[in-house]
Amino acid sequence: MQTFKSNLLNPISPTETQLLKKVFITLKDGKISSISNLHHGDYEDRTDLICIPGLIDTHVHLSQFYIRGSHSPSLLHWLKTYTFQEELKSKDVIYAEKVARDFFADSVSRGTTTSVIYTAPYKQACDIAFEVAQELGVRAIIGMTMMDANSPDYLQQDSTRAFEDSANLFDKWNRKTGLLEYVFTPRFALTCSALLMKITGDFARNENAYIQTHLSENKVEIKRALELFPQYGSYTEIYDRMGLLGPKTILGHVIHVDDEEISILKETESKIAHCPDSNFFLKSGMFPLQKLKEAGLDIALGSDVAGGTSLSMLNVMKMAAFRQNEYVIPPQEAFYYATLGGAKVLGKENIVGFIEAGKAADLVFLKIPPTRRDEAENILSRMIYTHEDVEIVETLVAGRKVF
Ligand SMILES: [Zn+2]
Repeated sequence: MQTFKSNLLNPISPTETQLLKKVFITLKDGKISSISNLHHGDYEDRTDLICIPGLIDTHVHLSQFYIRGSHSPSLLHWLKTYTFQEELKSKDVIYAEKVARDFFADSVSRGTTTSVIYTAPYKQACDIAFEVAQELGVRAIIGMTMMDANSPDYLQQDSTRAFEDSANLFDKWNRKTGLLEYVFTPRFALTCSALLMKITGDFARNENAYIQTHLSENKVEIKRALELFPQYGSYTEIYDRMGLLGPKTILGHVIHVDDEEISILKETESKIAHCPDSNFFLKSGMFPLQKLKEAGLDIALGSDVAGGTSLSMLNVMKMAAFRQNEYVIPPQEAFYYATLGGAKVLGKENIVGFIEAGKAADLVFLKIPPTRRDEAENILSRMIYTHEDVEIVETLVAGRKVF
């Protein structure tokens, strides 16, 4: 048992953040056992710090960690020039382990406790990412990227093999520990055959497993997808017909979608990982946040490293606000998407994303420079907009110190 006295910021909703000053948080067996104003017994004084729920990154490419900030004018150029060649390096197991260790070390140092991860398209690279995640004690949903069409020779997989390798990794790792799960990961329609997408969709649905892919990030990409699958009316319809959409599907980007596509996403209860830093960096376009929110879709945030430049979800929150031309995202809303909103997208709102008794003790203690007023909105906006000045003091996953 462990007790801290600190100040809590809790995401109630996209419009409301709760600030609890100088309360006692007691942890037991990896969970929060109580939050109270009174406490008898020993405690650690952290009243100079702010405690927030561990941050959730719902879209990130582990094997691309070293190529952050590689300038490119657009998505497809960037994939060809940097990404595919970098992913090839993870065929080497020593390199794959090094990148996994560096990735997770950086991620927890920035307060991220849950990540939804794409690895390079090699079974061993994905297996190593799981081993490292298990050893470090982070919460992660990890999948081997699948690509069996229109890809460079050195990455392209055989369709059956790509699926079987994924199914083996699923059997080996999914829910075998309390913190790790598998996500089936067809890269996107441009590099996946109909066969691969269909067998993956069927299997994942039967197993109630997660699926992740990219949807409608860039206009050239969309045109190419419709050339490859001319029988369908939209990019979203391709995934729908392949059986890839559903409540456990996390779609990265979703920028250039029309009303019909939005209603398919709504009907299938598919989830969205908005990656504003990456969208800005690769000039992909502006995410229609207001429209998708009003349609009632569940939205979370992703760093999309290495299309995104940093694993810092504080930076991603800032970019979410900056990337909108007119729609104003208050700090409460950005904070919600990276915590409770992210948990909801993953169906984990009863486990993480909010600090209360019974939830997992995934916590981050931060030192935030003083604000003019001691209120939730002031502290949050200081935390997000001047995140370079925020010190991450400690990160806990299930009560265990990971940073
Ligand atoms: Zn991505």
